Order: sequence, then C-alpha cells, then structure tokens
Amino acid sequence: MANLKDERIPVAVLGATGSVGQRFVQLLARHPWFRVAELVASDRSTGKRYGEATDWRLDASMPDEARDLPVRDYDAQLDSPVVFSALPGEVAGEIEQRMAREGRALFSNTSTHRMDPDVPLLIPEVNPGHVAALETQRRNRGWSGLLVTNPNCSAIHLVLALKPLHDAFGIDALAVTTMQAVSGAGYPGVPSLDMIDNVVPFIPTEEEKMTEETMKLLGGYDGGFVPAAITMTAHCNRVPVRDGHTECVSIRLHGEPPLDDVAEAFRAFRGRPQELDLPSAPKQPVVVRDERNRPQPVLDRDTEQGMASVVGRIRPCPLLGTKFVVLGHNTIRGAAGASILNAELFKLEGLLPV
Ligand code: NAP
Repeated sequence: MANLKDERIPVAVLGATGSVGQRFVQLLARHPWFRVAELVASDRSTGKRYGEATDWRLDASMPDEARDLPVRDYDAQLDSPVVFSALPGEVAGEIEQRMAREGRALFSNTSTHRMDPDVPLLIPEVNPGHVAALETQRRNRGWSGLLVTNPNCSAIHLVLALKPLHDAFGIDALAVTTMQAVSGAGYPGVPSLDMIDNVVPFIPTEEEKMTEETMKLLGGYDGGFVPAAITMTAHCNRVPVRDGHTECVSIRLHGEPPLDDVAEAFRAFRGRPQELDLPSAPKQPVVVRDERNRPQPVLDRDTEQGMASVVGRIRPCPLLGTKFVVLGHNTIRGAAGASILNAELFKLEGLLPV
C-alpha cells in the first residue's frame, strides 16, 4: 500500500492574505518539497479561516488545503522550520529577525534587510556565492536560524538579463526605464482613478532600490559584499498593466560586442538552479524573443510558469551601444517564486534547519 504520510517540509507564510502571500499559497500548493502548514496575517484576518479572510485575486481557485487553515497572528508560536515573508516593510524588521533568532530559515520578499551587510540578497542563477555571508550573519547576530532576501520585483528581472552580459563582456554603464504593473503595489494598491488612462512617473524609493540592489547582486563577496562598479540610472513608472514589469534598457558593454553575440549570451545563460534541476527553476532563465513587437506583459509574463525573464528588441543604441527590452512576472519570479527558488537551493545544499 502506498505511504500516504506527507513528508514535505512544513512552511509558514507571513502576509499570507496579500498579493505576494497569495502567490506563495498558490505556488506551494503543488510543491514537491514544501507544504503550507501555517498562514499568518494582520489583526484584520486573525481568528478567521484563510478562505474567509482572503480576498483571493488570482485566476486559478484558492488551493483546498489552504482554505480551512486558521490565520494566525504574529505572536503565535509557529512550528514550521521554514518561513516565507511577504510582510509590508514597516512591520517586517522585528518579526523576521525573531523568526531567524528562533532557529527558522526565513526567506523574505521585503526590502527591510536586503542591503544589510550580513544578509544575502540572492538570485541563485546570479550570485549563489553570496550565501557565504550567512557565516558572518550567524557570528554577528548569534541566530540559530538564518535570513535570506530576494530582490525587488524590477531589479530581479533586470539583473537576470544583465548577469550574462556582465560575465561575457563586462558592463560599463546602463540606463533603465520601467513600466511596472499595478499588482506590484499590492492589493488594493494604486487607486483606480490614478491608474486608468494614466502613467504615474514615480514609485517611492523604487529607483534607489533598483540601483543599489543591482550593484549588490552583480558584485562579489569577499568576507563582505563588494558592490559592482557600474554607472546606472533608473526611471520607474507605474502603468495600467495588471501583472508583469517591462523594462527598457540601454547599456554600454566592454568592447561593443555584435548584437548576435549579445543575443547568444542571453540564450546560453544557465545557473545553479538549472544545474541542480530545482523544482521551480526555469529551463532557461532568460528567454529571447525575435519578433519585433515582443516581449509584452499579456503574452510573455507567464513564460516558464512566470519564472523566466523575457528579452526582446535587441538593437543598436546610439547613446550607449546596445539596447533591449526585458519583461518578467512581478509576483512570481519577482517575488514568491524567487523566495521559493532560494529555499529549494538551500534544501539541496543542506542549509535548511531540518
Ligand atoms: P499586500 O497585498 O498589501 O499584502 C500585505 C500583507 O501583509 C497582507 O497579508 C496583510 O494582512 C499583511 N499586513 C498588512 N499590514 C500589516 C501589519 N501592520 N502587521 C502585520 N501584517 C500586516 O502587499 P504585497 O504586494 O503582497 O507585498 C508584500 C511585501 O512583498 C512588501 O514588502 C512588498 O514590498 C514586497 N514585494 C511585493 C511585490 C509585488 O509585486 N507585489 C514584489 C516584490 C516584493 P491583512 O490582509 O490581514 O491586512
């Protein structure tokens, strides 16, 4: 008779009722290694069942296994050794640190700890070596658990596209202009009267985050983080798209490589998740589209189940030499999917406290 015992690792989701929290619940529902055991949200939701507390905004139905779970509060003693955080920045700091202090592996989407000098900001295809910072984290903080972050939803797709170019040619300078989906602001997010028939050319702290996170991600780790030395400018805009951030990039590469070589560098790019065949890893982290009018959010955001960045319109730039467009799903690879991929890497590398 088949063994019906579920041996997957129990995990908790903090901020489980929000945009990113819902993605966690959806992506984890069919996960081979992790099982959603505990869901946590604000006072507004605690004491209710998840199905009752959550205004489910995703296209597929709420997973049955989550529907009846009670929503816990942040002071509840959790049993799960692995915790995913989708908390608002204002409340994340202390709660996330407590989870790590208590011996859990905390994988966070929040910006609060991303730039801390002993916290890895991790994209497994880009900077798996930054995991070494956990030794300093353990020493500095005396935690038996650990805290790892994933980048801002625009920075992650930008950096997935930059990494193969930085490795193949070296990057001197770049300018990026984003067109960011409304779901990036959570739910209900930007008021509809600000969004319909409009573009909002300001997202608080987004340009700063994109720039500093890009430098940390493309930099090294040598007992401390050594940021990359690239001149970069970012313009961030909110546009009336539901999901999927589009980014127009102009870039100066060393040696002004031919466009075919740039396209080949994107296509050939693979990292640790692909080598290890992690369950959430896209086969190709960067997918190149040759059509002259792609990528587009509606057509391309779900490429590789939303885990790939899609590049197109690779062409000459009279200002910086090369330009292209990159697009990616902001709540999948840009948030929940990124955290889950980090946790999968940790499991296979034997770094989880289980
Ligand atoms: P959201 O839709 O506003 O959800 C926020 C979640 O946090 C809800 O579960 C909410 O619970 C809970 N919460 C709100 N106020 C709280 C408080 N005072 N104490 C405890 N819990 C509270 O936000 P989101 O878009 O999912 O974003 C969550 C985090 O992920 C943010 O830090 C954001 O910057 C980051 N992030 C978002 C994206 C994206 O594309 N949306 C991408 C990358 C990173 P209730 O429902 O009970 O109020």
